[in-house]
Amino acid sequence: MKENIKLISTISNIEYPFSRIQEKAENGEPLEVFLPEINKVRILQGEFIWQRFAEFLPVKVQKDLSLKEGNTPLEQAEVDLQDFCGIEKLYLKNETLNPTGSFKDRGSLLVTAMCREMGETHTATISTGNMGSSISACGKKAGIKVIVFIPHNTPDDKIQLMSQYDPEIFKVHASDYSEMKKTILSLAAELKLRIVSGNGPLRVEGYKLTAFELFEQMRGKVPDYIAVPTSACGHIRGIFKGYRELLAARLIERLPKMIIIQAENNSPIVSAIKQGKREIIPFRNFQTIAHAITSGEPYGGNELILKAGKFSWLAESVSEQEIMDSQRMLQESGFLLEPASATVLPAVRKLRKAGKIGDDEKVILMLTGSGRKSIIKNLESKTKLISCELKDVHSKLKKLSL
Ligand SMILES: *Cc1c(COP(=O)(O)O)cnc(C)c1O
Repeated sequence: MKENIKLISTISNIEYPFSRIQEKAENGEPLEVFLPEINKVRILQGEFIWQRFAEFLPVKVQKDLSLKEGNTPLEQAEVDLQDFCGIEKLYLKNETLNPTGSFKDRGSLLVTAMCREMGETHTATISTGNMGSSISACGKKAGIKVIVFIPHNTPDDKIQLMSQYDPEIFKVHASDYSEMKKTILSLAAELKLRIVSGNGPLRVEGYKLTAFELFEQMRGKVPDYIAVPTSACGHIRGIFKGYRELLAARLIERLPKMIIIQAENNSPIVSAIKQGKREIIPFRNFQTIAHAITSGEPYGGNELILKAGKFSWLAESVSEQEIMDSQRMLQESGFLLEPASATVLPAVRKLRKAGKIGDDEKVILMLTGSGRKSIIKNLESKTKLISCELKDVHSKLKKLSL
């Protein structure tokens, strides 16, 4: 472990030892890793992003832990998508190409590196989807046993997906998912079990790697905006922390602005920002097809509201119909995404229409998760299935008026 590293709470700056196993501060605030002398770090040589930026990370990532996270493409959007948003400098960062199909793997890599460093044999998470699969896959690679807590109504296909990586799964009967998360997270200290949600300090360290990768891919230039579908808040604050550290290391001269994006039906952070509130507005008993962004009461939300004010971030929400239309549009452009990911396109279009994003500004859309996992359920298909005998193929084809 590096020297003089500590954890600090992100609103009141209360200090904790880096080894703290609980994910939050006593007062419920998120925690963040404080790296001393970040102004003195250097970029190294190496094949992987976590090797080149090792001096920016609090723990050593050993090579055998890696499932080859990261190294995902950044590409300019097709003209159709540029026109749709009214933004020419529109770029897509394709995080669906990570090993388990979402950016979550970057955070899971750092969690397993920490477990290895602390000699922890088990780790746990509370998840119905991407997080459970990602931690289970990384844990399996690292030889660390993973426990996943899922709510009792989790669909079987999601359970099967994470089962591929052999975690211990606890199906928990609870009336409210936010309540279930809170209760289970509070068991960490007593059980000496690192129970991670989407907003833990080590996950944030992993998500910094995305900022470093963008820094390399843009040859040191900084985009004006980075649009991020947001739920537990770890991803967006990780990317921003990466840029803050690049600034502290004098590798860049300014910070990008982040865009917080949520589904209208569950928008505890975006609604609060739009209404000028300083605290999240909890959402309960909502329905949205954007399953990966369903934290109705994220404990990291208030920090984001503060940051949005301080750093001039934007916030936008989108309807279910907008999500479905966008999913299809991005699919036609070659990106098979899950609904949560597809929120970025209509959100950025609305912000541009409202004049909040200028026509010459450079905007990156984070494509957070792949649609391959749930394609049949999520895409409303217009395909007609023709079932026939082999001998009839010829006559049926003829009827299609080719
Ligand atoms: C987890 C997840 C998000 C939300 O990220 P947070 O770090 O929880 O804010 C968005 N999209 C996908 C596909 C995800 O899996």
